[in-house]
Amino acid sequence: MKNIVFIKRIFSFFTVFLIMVMYVQFPVKSAGDTEEINFQELADQIGYLVNEARTQAGLNPVYMVPYLNEVATARCRECLTDFSHDRHYLGLKDPAKGIYYKFSDMFDENFPWLAGKENIANTMRTAEATFNQWKNSPQHWANILDPQVTHLGVGVVYEPDSRPPSASEPEGYATAHWYWTQIFIKADDDPYYAREYLGWTCFDEKGNVAFEGQYMPEMYQVKPTECGDLNGDGVIDSFDLVILRQYLTKQTTLNPLQVEAADVMYDGVVSYSDLGILRGFILGKYDSLPVRLW
Ligand code: CA
Ligand code: CA
Repeated sequence: MKNIVFIKRIFSFFTVFLIMVMYVQFPVKSAGDTEEINFQELADQIGYLVNEARTQAGLNPVYMVPYLNEVATARCRECLTDFSHDRHYLGLKDPAKGIYYKFSDMFDENFPWLAGKENIANTMRTAEATFNQWKNSPQHWANILDPQVTHLGVGVVYEPDSRPPSASEPEGYATAHWYWTQIFIKADDDPYYAREYLGWTCFDEKGNVAFEGQYMPEMYQVKPTECGDLNGDGVIDSFDLVILRQYLTKQTTLNPLQVEAADVMYDGVVSYSDLGILRGFILGKYDSLPVRLW
């Protein structure tokens, strides 16, 4: 049996070199290369921080909704030219209300919601820093800790071609590079009322309003299952070895959970010694990870 495992590991070890070129590199949050920024992970990190704060305050966590993420991202793009809750750029006011269009006017006609709030921010390039901007603003913080909101969408946009405002464009254009939007909605007020009187059709098995694809956000998309499993797929194999090599040669970054899982020699740092240990484990030299050499 052990021979079979050994052969599988050997096979895995060699086949990886054939597919390395196709391997999708982990995203790097570099402001200089937009293609490598994982915007969805940044958005989810905002959602995770929201729920962490809400849990600490004794409130229910909110679900993130893919559709609301799309709307929030569209609002970020609008903020590139008009950083405001009022959508002045449309040059129109809602004829019925006599006020400028808001984020909620972007919702599809059939999208069910009872109330909504929007937080926008710019400049900061990490979720934590942006979240702290909102935390330090009482009005934004009140939205994050509103007991009534149930669902959230987050958008993140990075505009590398920012330039300073000009005389002809006093509003400026994308001078802050990074734009962030949160859209909170209250949707779960009274499922019976929603079903019987509002005609909503999106409910989960418990009868609560549930939007398509809604999810609880995680801080990191990749979560190692054990020491050595850097890509979080539940097995320790050559794919993990490739990631560790890329990390050591600064071709990729790892999240803090991955860094912890990469320290397979368990000496508190990630180094080429860990690469050797991980390779040894894959080749059957060690039975388990981490390996303590003293
Ligand atoms: Ca793995
Ligand atoms: Ca180590």
